[in-house]
Amino acid sequence: MACNGKCDCKKYVYFFGGDKSEGDASLKQLLGGKGANLAEMSQMNLPVPPGFTVTTEACGRYGKVGRDKLFGLIESQVKKALDDLEKLTGKSFGKGPNPLLLSVRSGAAVSMPGMMDTVLNLGLNDETVAAMVELTGNERFVMDSYRRFIQMFGNVVLGLEHHEFEHALDAVKASKGVKLDTDLTTNDLKEVIVKYKQAVKKASGKDFPTDPMEQLWSAVQAVFDSWSNPRAIRYCQINDIRGLLGTAVNIQTMVFGNSGSNSATGVAFTRDPSNGANEYFYGEYLINAQGEDVVAGIRTPQQITLAGSRVWAVSAGVPEEERAADFPSLEEAMPECFKELDNIRIILEKHYTDMQDLEFTIDNGTLYMLQTRNGKRTAAAAVKIAMDLVEEGLIEEEEAVMRVDPAQLDQLLHPVFTKSAEEKAVKLTVGLPASPGAATGQVVFSAEDAEKWVSNGRTVILCRIETSPEDIGGMHVADGILTARGGMTSHAAVVARGMGTCCVAGCGDIAIDYANKKFTVGGVTVKEGDWISLNGSLGAVYQGKIDTIEPELTGTFGHIMELADKYRTMNVRTNADTPHDAGVAVKFGAEGIGLCRTEHMFFEGDRIIAFRRLILVAEKVKKLKEAHAAKTIEDLKTAIDSCNKAEMDAVNQYAQALEELLPLQRTDFVGIFRAMAGRPCTVRLLDPPLHEFLPHDEKGQREMARQMGSSVDEIRALVESLHEFNPMLGHRGCRLGMSYPEVTEMQTRAICEAACEVKGSKPEIMVPLVGNVKELSIQKKIITATIDAVAKEQGKKLDVMIGTMIEIPRAAITADKIAEEAEFFSFGTNDLTQMGCGFSRDDAGKFLGDYVNEGVYEYDPFQVLDQEGIGELVRIAVDKGRQARPNIKLGICGEHGGEPSSVEFCYNVGLNYVSCSPYRVPIARLAAAQAVIKAKRK
Ligand code: ADP
Ligand code: MG
Ligand code: MG
Repeated sequence: MACNGKCDCKKYVYFFGGDKSEGDASLKQLLGGKGANLAEMSQMNLPVPPGFTVTTEACGRYGKVGRDKLFGLIESQVKKALDDLEKLTGKSFGKGPNPLLLSVRSGAAVSMPGMMDTVLNLGLNDETVAAMVELTGNERFVMDSYRRFIQMFGNVVLGLEHHEFEHALDAVKASKGVKLDTDLTTNDLKEVIVKYKQAVKKASGKDFPTDPMEQLWSAVQAVFDSWSNPRAIRYCQINDIRGLLGTAVNIQTMVFGNSGSNSATGVAFTRDPSNGANEYFYGEYLINAQGEDVVAGIRTPQQITLAGSRVWAVSAGVPEEERAADFPSLEEAMPECFKELDNIRIILEKHYTDMQDLEFTIDNGTLYMLQTRNGKRTAAAAVKIAMDLVEEGLIEEEEAVMRVDPAQLDQLLHPVFTKSAEEKAVKLTVGLPASPGAATGQVVFSAEDAEKWVSNGRTVILCRIETSPEDIGGMHVADGILTARGGMTSHAAVVARGMGTCCVAGCGDIAIDYANKKFTVGGVTVKEGDWISLNGSLGAVYQGKIDTIEPELTGTFGHIMELADKYRTMNVRTNADTPHDAGVAVKFGAEGIGLCRTEHMFFEGDRIIAFRRLILVAEKVKKLKEAHAAKTIEDLKTAIDSCNKAEMDAVNQYAQALEELLPLQRTDFVGIFRAMAGRPCTVRLLDPPLHEFLPHDEKGQREMARQMGSSVDEIRALVESLHEFNPMLGHRGCRLGMSYPEVTEMQTRAICEAACEVKGSKPEIMVPLVGNVKELSIQKKIITATIDAVAKEQGKKLDVMIGTMIEIPRAAITADKIAEEAEFFSFGTNDLTQMGCGFSRDDAGKFLGDYVNEGVYEYDPFQVLDQEGIGELVRIAVDKGRQARPNIKLGICGEHGGEPSSVEFCYNVGLNYVSCSPYRVPIARLAAAQAVIKAKRK
């Protein structure tokens, strides 16, 4: 029938298999990652069980129009695909003699391991069960498949809890005296099936559905529904996954890893996902098993390769004989299938030019591929794999730079245990090195407790028998994760690696007692709140706390950084206030200081006393200067009546405080300039309001009164007089320098004298909070005069740049005027965001979360630069600044300077450098390189 415009001709179903795959890897958004790659693998003639994919668009529509309408739209397409599938496989859905059984699998465009649910063996009922028994002559296998189907369907589609089935299964196991599922006989399984059906009836009030079509549609609906379940939503939030249409549904012919000892199922990584090593094919499998058995930690998984198997045996303490007999590798147990799989590994890596995460099943000696995707990996692995792929000629250097997520680098920069401390520590046990790094924390036994404890400011190690997707929140906040069960591809291991959280998995000899919140291992009992330490690279578990040190920044990490440096054009500086921080940043590759805050130089030790003496008389001295029309303190000293002791004392106290502060600040600058060894250093003059330097509590005020030789009342009056209703918009930044030019002068002098002392230093003096060019001209006059004076005194030439922060919107839009005075701009995007968006940095936290949830702002604008608004102010200032002074130096020193998307923005508007905290320097270097490459590719 011709289209009358009332129908929806849209294609919602894509077939894969045989020679008629309709999709390919490029259709990820539409078919989801799993569906697109199943189609792609079929196109490559790899052994993929045929099937079809219902698109993510259908899921999107389902969310809008509901079940009936959507199913009306896709019904005929699904039926047609099912028809084709029957023809291709020679099987029939819901009927003998050769029943077609299906898997119904979810899969969004971005992989979300285990976040949504899968149903296997769909299409079984008493009739097809009988036909399957007839066909295979393997009744046990059919019953095993049937009980699995009832359990998965009951859980995923009918909403029964796992334990409702587990109880039934455990009861049968107990009555038969067996431990493993595989030890159950055919008759035992039949008993399980009866119990399962009873459980379904009891919980849902209905019989287990026998109509295969009804089973299929309900399963499809369940997958669509799973898209909006809390687990999936939380996963998207944590991983910042946005803008997806929904999940696709993959309906695929079943193959059976549980059909006997010549069958198996497994998962594998083409390279080691925890360190990137390409030594052997890395994965786990189980003979006579199905679906999630390998990752669920029900039985101990076996290794793919012999080499891997031997390594595993050593770390698991299994003697070689026992290993070979009870836990042989796939290479040993099924050499033909292993060879074929190993070959596919190479084909897929070449094809996708990246490390793959594979799922496979062996059905009676025939290998099938069930999934491939770019594997999740730790930062260390990401870096190593990217560099190795370049060497192997699979990718170009630029691509390697793009392959590493800058934010992930963080994992590599954090401390590891000190060797000596680790050697001395009491080792409780060793498990699998599931996710590298070091963690020390207090033990908790539930994800919920982890979240609670962390919100109370503690660091925790989450200990679980095994983890499940419900635990995701707790895993996210924990410093380390320890599990008693599960292998290297268990949920805990995969998720921890993705998060970069240290994890030791499968510690078989710890016995966890949830009810009493404790675990025991080798005679030691560890209770909730006790400290333990994990080494995720070794799999070691220690009692108590262990000291940590900074990691080594060499090897492949150094190589990727070199590549980043080769491609980036922006400089990367750091925000550092102390020689120590400056030193760390230089180690991380900082090329200068973009922001040296000087406020701490007024705080530390005795300096605060000197500075408080100054504050105490500052206002009085200012008034005296006005009264006597004195320009300088010297002028004032001669102008006032020497008999007026009170006035004279105030002026002397003021001058003396400055004199005391000068050498202290000079020493600080000397330290910083030395640490930076000839790299440029932007020093910001005093910025916070003066009352921040005063004590606000009674005790502190009494102490200050004692030190100043004045009364508590006087101090309290001073604090009150400096009180501001809105200090962030108050008497701070260059406004202080306007009122107390002697402070500007003292700081400038300290900087210049330090510069004379440290050969080759390159100070840049930055005036904060300028909104009007006249503020800058006045401050600049003081600064220039001081530079000249010091140069003359020391007989040296001083080359000091003078510039300003652009952090007030007025400054941004009058940047052409300001550029006439400023040799550089540094965008202070924290304040610029505060004043530009009108969000108080101190108070906006209360509602900004809601704003982000509702999409008013896509991200917290204090974390990710609001490009549309604040970014526009930056752009205007850049344009106007360059117009007025073509060679003006432009940089950013707000928090955004180390946030990858903001770094990209900075590159695109043409800044010369970004500046960020020391630990973010490598992130910024990589992000700056990626910005160049992205722009080139556009
Ligand atoms: P996830 O997205 O959680 O990995 P999958 O859709 O990949 O879920 O399914 C989970 C497991 O189910 C797979 O690892 C595989 O072992 C099994 N499975 C899926 N489809 C089939 C199939 N057609 N035949 C046999 N096993 C299957
Ligand atoms: Mg999978
Ligand atoms: Mg500021």
